Amino acid sequence: MAQPILTLENIHKTFDGTKVLDGITLDVLPGQFVTLLGPSGCGKTTTLRIIAGLESPDSGRVILSGADVTRLPPEKRAVNTVFQNYALFPHMNVQKNIAYSMNLRRVKKDESAKRVEELLSVVQLEGFGKRMPAQLSGGQRQRVAIARALACDPQLLLLDEPLGALDLQLRRQMQVELKALQQKLGITFIYITHDQEEALNMSDLIAVMNGGRFEQIGSPEEIYERPTTRFAAQFIGQSNILEGDVIQSGKDRSVVEICPGNTVMVKGEYTQGERLALSVRAERIDYAKEAGYGFHLTGTIKLHSYIGGVLRTTITLKTGQELLITGANPVSLYPAGCTVEVFWDPDAAAVVERGRG
Ligand code: ATP
Repeated sequence: MAQPILTLENIHKTFDGTKVLDGITLDVLPGQFVTLLGPSGCGKTTTLRIIAGLESPDSGRVILSGADVTRLPPEKRAVNTVFQNYALFPHMNVQKNIAYSMNLRRVKKDESAKRVEELLSVVQLEGFGKRMPAQLSGGQRQRVAIARALACDPQLLLLDEPLGALDLQLRRQMQVELKALQQKLGITFIYITHDQEEALNMSDLIAVMNGGRFEQIGSPEEIYERPTTRFAAQFIGQSNILEGDVIQSGKDRSVVEICPGNTVMVKGEYTQGERLALSVRAERIDYAKEAGYGFHLTGTIKLHSYIGGVLRTTITLKTGQELLITGANPVSLYPAGCTVEVFWDPDAAAVVERGRG
C-alpha cells in the first residue's frame, strides 16, 4: 500500500482554554480527495491551518511525505491553500495573480509566463490573463485562485469552502470541474465543506467532524450506508434512529424490541438484553398491510406530502415516535389515518450505538 502523503497524529489544540481539536488522527494517501465535513465551529479550518503551518498544535504531529513538519513555517511546506473569499490581489491582472508566487521564488520570466498559460488552460480560462479580478465572475475568480495555488506545484492543496460564496447552480458546476481537475492533475486535495451533498459528490474519503473529533472516516458510500455514530447518521441524509433491547440473538439476525409486541430484525449477532440504537435511512423504509423480513412494527400514517420527485410520509409508531419515510412513488396506497406494518431490509439499517439494557 502507498505511503501516506499526510499523516495527522493525535493533534490537540486549545484556544483560550477551550478545546478545539481533541485528538485528530488521519492518514491521507497520494492523489486522494479527502473532505472534512462538519457543522460550523467543529474545528475544520483549525485542522487545515495546522496542516498549512498557519497554526501550531499543542500536541501531536503533522507528517508530510514522511517528514515531521510540525514545527516548520508555512513557506517550508509543499502545501498551498485556497480560501472561500478568493483572496486575489485586486490591483493585479489574472496573469500577475497566478505568477505571484513564482516571482517571489525568482522563477525566470519566460518560464513563469509559460506556466501561467498552462495553468490558465488547466482551469479553462485561456484568454483571460489580462483581465482584472473585478472583471471576472465569482466562479472565474475562484478558478484563478486555484490556478494561483497550483503555480508552485504543491504536493497537497488545501481548500477551505472554496465554493461557499457561489450560487447553487455554479457551485454544482464547479464541483464537477474541480473534481475533474483534481483527477487530471493527480494532486492530493484536502477540502472543507459543511455541505453533505458536496462531500458525497466529490470525495474519495470523508472525515465527519464534530466537536474537534473525527466521528467517522470512510468512503462516501461507507459514511452514507454504514454510519457508525448517531451524529454521522444524522448529519448526512435523512435518518431515523430507533432504540430497543435485543430479545433474541442469532448468528445472522437478532430481534430487537422497540416496545412490547413491536420488534424489528437487525443484521448480526448481539447479546440478549443489550440496548441498541439503529439508524435507517428515510428512503429505505417500506410499509404495507403485511410486514416483511419478520418485522412486527405497527404504525399509523400521519401525513403524506409530495415534494416533487419524492413522497414524504410520516408514520407514528406505538411509542409515539415519528418515522420519516421517502418514496419515489408520488401516491401512496394508504391514506393518512391508516394503520400499517413498517419494515426494511435488515441489511439497510446500521447499529450506531450499543449499550447495556
Ligand atoms: P466554520 O465552518 O464556521 O468555518 P470550522 O469547523 O472551520 O467552522 P474553526 O474555524 O476551526 O471551525 O473553529 C473552531 C473553534 O475554534 C470555534 O469555536 C472558533 O471560534 C475557535 N477558534 C478558531 N480560531 C480561533 C482563534 N484564533 N482564537 C480563538 N478561538 C478560535
